[in-house]
Amino acid sequence: MLVRTAYRCRAYPTPEQTRILNRTFGCVRLVWNKTLDERSRRYHSEGVRTSYRQADAALTELKRTEEFAFLSEVSCVPLQQALRHQQTALQNFFTGRARYPRFKPRTNRQTAHFTRSAFRLRAGVLTLAKIATPLRFVWSFDDTDMTSLAPTMVVICREPDDRWYVTFAVDTKAIAPLVPTGQAIGVDLGLAEFAVTSRGERIVAPERLERRARNLARYQRQLARCQRGSMNRRRARAKVARAHRKVRDARQDFLHRTTTTLVRSADMIAVEDLNVSGMVRNRRLSRAISNAGWSEFRRQLEYKCERAGRTLVVIDRWYPSSKTCSACGHRLTELALSARHWTCPSCRARHDRDLNAAKNILAAGRAVARGDSGDACGADVGRQGPPLPRSAVKQEVRAARYSP
Ligand SMILES: [Zn+2]
Repeated sequence: MLVRTAYRCRAYPTPEQTRILNRTFGCVRLVWNKTLDERSRRYHSEGVRTSYRQADAALTELKRTEEFAFLSEVSCVPLQQALRHQQTALQNFFTGRARYPRFKPRTNRQTAHFTRSAFRLRAGVLTLAKIATPLRFVWSFDDTDMTSLAPTMVVICREPDDRWYVTFAVDTKAIAPLVPTGQAIGVDLGLAEFAVTSRGERIVAPERLERRARNLARYQRQLARCQRGSMNRRRARAKVARAHRKVRDARQDFLHRTTTTLVRSADMIAVEDLNVSGMVRNRRLSRAISNAGWSEFRRQLEYKCERAGRTLVVIDRWYPSSKTCSACGHRLTELALSARHWTCPSCRARHDRDLNAAKNILAAGRAVARGDSGDACGADVGRQGPPLPRSAVKQEVRAARYSP
């Protein structure tokens, strides 16, 4: 089985390379925005969807025009990759999994994707198409031999704080599975903390992350007050970019430590699907931690479980994990968002809201892993409640990875 791994390193382009890469980013942005614009226009005025083939043909046409001939000065691969990404983004939109793709502004993170035909990596020396000299980067993964790396893709990225990165995407053989623990665990998105497990552990975002998120919010407010085009605004934007990076680094660090511990501790991990009510519930956590954090948490759990031969079960977002008594299965019709504790009217068990939910998620996860989607400890695992909105069609109970 192949697993995709990515190695991200700091890159240090020369002034000449910076110039070419910035130009490449500009062309990627132009192709993305122009294609998206044309697509949206066709879709809204004529109700016609544009295929990848059509978009690609339009790009070829564009390059032939005098006005846009400069598009041929950069490698064509990142431009084509941009079209591919847009295609995927639109497919995700049409299947209800994502919002409509947006235009790419100049101030965001800039990326260019180079597939195999557009880069060369020999003995740790990286050269990109249309750039004569090798790109310098710093390899910081001591346990991986850079010289034997055979990436399928190289991504060049310029962050808003002007740091450069190169990411090597590699398909590797899955590493040896972890030794079974005989344990299973349920994880609920906490109300006051990041998450609560069925063992009663409360996973709290570190104070450092909270502090950095608060700093970021403060710099963003400062930026909003600055006048457009002013020097102060540029300075404020640089501060926001730096604060963003600090939040991201701290969040990644926290999430990696959390997911690694979870994957080590249990053979089966059950989580609730990323859900809107969860977002609402978590309004007390700063957005930097809850929104982005929860989907990244899922992503890490998915690939770490896959690598380690663990089972991850994702429970349907309509499963009433909070309102069901984990002791007797009684289901409340209503449970206020503010209620941290409640007593089951049927068996008189006293519940901590989040712990009870985590226990139910674990029970539902066990039922899915066993293969019966029916009654799990008195609670239905299947879909409950109102008819599914379009966006939830793909969100029914599923075992992301189920090994019997
Ligand atoms: Zn009960």
